[in-house]
Amino acid sequence: MERIIVLCLVSNCLSAVHAQTFLFSPKWGPIGYKEREEYDGTAMDEIIKTNEFQASRIIDGTTSLRDGDIAVSSGRRSKVCFARSCLWSKSVDGHVYVAYRLSPEYSEIETKLIKKGMESIEKGTCVRFVPRTHQRDYIDIQPKSGCWSYLGTRGGRQTVSLQSPDCLRVGVISHEFMHALGFVHEQSRSDRDNYVTIMWPNIWRDRLRNFEKFKTDSLDLPYDYGSIMHFGMYAYSQDGQPTIIPKNSHNSKDIKLGQASTLSHIDQMKINKLYKCGAMDEY
Ligand SMILES: [Zn+2]
Repeated sequence: MERIIVLCLVSNCLSAVHAQTFLFSPKWGPIGYKEREEYDGTAMDEIIKTNEFQASRIIDGTTSLRDGDIAVSSGRRSKVCFARSCLWSKSVDGHVYVAYRLSPEYSEIETKLIKKGMESIEKGTCVRFVPRTHQRDYIDIQPKSGCWSYLGTRGGRQTVSLQSPDCLRVGVISHEFMHALGFVHEQSRSDRDNYVTIMWPNIWRDRLRNFEKFKTDSLDLPYDYGSIMHFGMYAYSQDGQPTIIPKNSHNSKDIKLGQASTLSHIDQMKINKLYKCGAMDEY
């Protein structure tokens, strides 16, 4: 009898905790990502999971997130960033050096993961991440709330937030660095409607804006379904139904959207084209 009472108390406690989470979570809402055993999530799925449930959409009084993880300061127009105006400068030796400062709050293992994310960008491209010494422009990698980055270089110090441990996956780290290099999400491309169908009725209503198009320069590269910058098929789903469906009629079921941990070949090509690197095999 005693045991039954204890069990009842525990279950009462659990339901109380649950109710509290429900009542006080400002982010309570539809799932926003698909959690299924056979579904191999994308980097963006991880980011959505972290940012929707833990990070505030408003980072501070003047900065907010758009498209899920791109930091925007009020008064600055981020949409024009894909042009050449926000590129990191190129060294005379042909490399693009991105100086960084890493928060001392990260553990040794976390630091290794962040460096793996950097290596994933460096592989096959002319980008090199270097610890900051004297450089004026640099990224300041910090375990703030959520996974987010500004778009392109802004001049001076700019934060890339990689919350611990949720954002410390190689794919997520690379994804945020791609934003810092100036890339938007692949399905934000201005020509995306030729390649994917956005299933507007399935999208969580508060997040419809995350599916807006940007005026992008596609760099004459094909639409990249497998980009590390592509949303997953169920991104911001309000009812578990797909929000993005590939248009290719023959094998659309075989096309996987997004990428979990590495840059796609086209992602590497994008970097090399935007930054006018040499041939890929040089790196
Ligand atoms: Zn993103």
